[in-house]
Amino acid sequence: MRVSKLYENGGNPVVSFEFFPPRDEEAEEEFEKVVDDLATLKPDYMSVTFGAGGSTRDGSFQTVKKSIEEKNQPTVAYIAGYGLGPDEMTTVLDRYQELGIETIFVIRGDEPRNNGQFVSHPDCMHYASDMISFINENYDFDLGCAGYPEGHVQSESFEKDIEYLKTKVDNGAKYVVAQYFYDNNLFYEYVDKCRKAGISVPIIPGIMPIYGVKMTENLATLCGATISEELRRGLKEASEGGKDAIMQFGIDFAVEQCRELLEKGVPGLHFYTMDRSQSVVGIVNCLKQENLL
Ligand SMILES: Cc1cc2nc3c(=O)[nH]c(=O)nc-3n(C[C@H](O)[C@H](O)[C@H](O)COP(=O)(O)OP(=O)(O)OC[C@H]3O[C@@H](n4cnc5c(N)ncnc54)[C@H](O)[C@@H]3O)c2cc1C
Repeated sequence: MRVSKLYENGGNPVVSFEFFPPRDEEAEEEFEKVVDDLATLKPDYMSVTFGAGGSTRDGSFQTVKKSIEEKNQPTVAYIAGYGLGPDEMTTVLDRYQELGIETIFVIRGDEPRNNGQFVSHPDCMHYASDMISFINENYDFDLGCAGYPEGHVQSESFEKDIEYLKTKVDNGAKYVVAQYFYDNNLFYEYVDKCRKAGISVPIIPGIMPIYGVKMTENLATLCGATISEELRRGLKEASEGGKDAIMQFGIDFAVEQCRELLEKGVPGLHFYTMDRSQSVVGIVNCLKQENLL
């Protein structure tokens, strides 16, 4: 499955679910249940992340393989090329090619958090745009890349970040999945600026359901997502009702966010599942009931 073709079709919005490979055997059992639950929603594709520096190389491969062969799901494999040499990238990509993968989502990744033990390959590529060039020159995969509606946390400036996104697209990325955001206006402004910068490929909003207060705050700090005062107040009120109330608040918030995005005509919704199913099932079912999906 070549993902860019799905976005080009212009039919129903494309729904995709992103997973991490399970950490260990115990997590594997729970993971299977989550995937089975989410498969009932009949997504257009599932996608599997990749630990930068190759930390989940085998786990990611096995998860992608299972998703295709056992779960019959159209699947996108990720590669985070941080610190990997061209030979290591080739080994990973060859395996995916043999498996029949047609779409690779290419990201740089960040330095692995292992007390500075990680040593980059001397010939590693420094940016996702270089990795995209390398893959495009050597393979026939459909390629996707990441975009940041609030700017990447390390970027010199918002404008420079968009300039680098343009390089990724010029080098061969055919679609962009956006980092999550809680204010749709940030996404609309971003898409507008990308279009003005000459980026014409589909830009897909990333949706991160609210799973818990602490997790939301921590992730937002890590990813640079703004939490408005209004959202913070809503979260605080919901947290007085306990875990279930927060989960329901998160579902309602995401439904409202997705409803508006769909009414504006976005080409798809990409859900960061965090390997959980309850929220995404709640959100997608609600949107389906409203005939928005
Ligand atoms: C949808 C999505 C999926 C993700 N999946 C994963 C995953 O599976 N595994 C994982 O480890 N991480 C993942 N990430 C996180 C991602 O790896 C980090 O955000 C990482 O810090 C940046 O990756 P990138 O591909 O956007 O990098 P790049 O596009 O290389 O950008 C990284 C930084 O460098 C700057 N930059 C780019 N090019 C240049 C240049 N030529 N000169 C100077 N500066 C430049 C950019 O402005 C940015 O600040 C994902 C992120 C998103 C949005």
